[in-house]
Amino acid sequence: MEQNNTPAVLLIYTGGTIGMIQNSETGALESFAFERLIRNVPELKRFECRIDVHQFAKPIDSSDMHPSVWSELVRIISGNYHKYDGFVILHGTDTMAYTASALSFMLEGLCKPVVLTGSQLPIGMLRTDGKENLITAIEIASARDEQGHPLVPEVCIFFENCLLRGNRTTKINAENFDAFRSYNYPPLAVAGINIKYDRDKIAKVDFSQSLKPHLNLDTNVIVLTLFPGIQENVISNLFRTAGLKAVVLKTFGAGNAPQQPWFIELLKRAIADGIIIVNISQCLAGMVQMKLYETGLRLLDAGVISGYDCTVECILTKLMFLLGENKSQYEVSELMNTPLAGEFTV
Ligand code: ASP
Repeated sequence: MEQNNTPAVLLIYTGGTIGMIQNSETGALESFAFERLIRNVPELKRFECRIDVHQFAKPIDSSDMHPSVWSELVRIISGNYHKYDGFVILHGTDTMAYTASALSFMLEGLCKPVVLTGSQLPIGMLRTDGKENLITAIEIASARDEQGHPLVPEVCIFFENCLLRGNRTTKINAENFDAFRSYNYPPLAVAGINIKYDRDKIAKVDFSQSLKPHLNLDTNVIVLTLFPGIQENVISNLFRTAGLKAVVLKTFGAGNAPQQPWFIELLKRAIADGIIIVNISQCLAGMVQMKLYETGLRLLDAGVISGYDCTVECILTKLMFLLGENKSQYEVSELMNTPLAGEFTV
């Protein structure tokens, strides 16, 4: 942080549409040097805040996002943690919710804003949504409360007027500017003429705690979406995947699944073999309640863990994180039932 008390924000450019330009031959959008594109945003000079840029050597379309990049982001943030009041990560929209979820677990003890944003149209285009998203994200990342503490000390996504908790967010639209939703947790802030923060909903942190960065993730996980007619051989082969440690089971409604004995048997065997199975709903809103219907109860009896009202992005990255910490099956199960970063409703 600067001695003169001017806020400082580190802008980390990973790639994504926001910084792309159109290839004149193919018409496809390609990543480009963000430093050059940022010239399209002269408004940045008007901020009463220092903005430094860290650009990835090779910006990526976020469909190429990988846990190694999340570790790189954690290294950048932890290495610069004391120099900045907040961090803005420019990221493709496609996997932004995965990155935000992963970072919320990997940055234990975070007391500063990490705001992810991007855009549906490149920042150099006339009708871009990128400028507004970028400018407001910086404003949020540098905002302080009456005591001088960061106003939003958590990992969040800012997009089209709404600041959402990162590990509660999902991309829901591939065309509209309004591309993200957090169905099970209200917005942390809404940007209109003023930015209205909902202070009760923002994470309460102990500002004296220090950041504990975690770099290891274990990707021996899979998402299995149930559907009527799903075959036994498909599931049994999947559960026999070498090295598999955890399955995110996307069930119906409030956490319900078929009651066929072969299905329940397969689950029991997989759990006995040490595989962790977490139940989340295919519905975007609402909570898994395994005690509500007989069909859910069978899963609970088989040893399946509730994913509560988490997003799939959140459950998947939380599992990668806990397995990356070399936790036992029992410890992972316990921690899946404990909110670590406000990721589910208790
Ligand atoms: N494919 C792009 C990406 O996720 C889409 C975007 O940025 O909106 O990188």
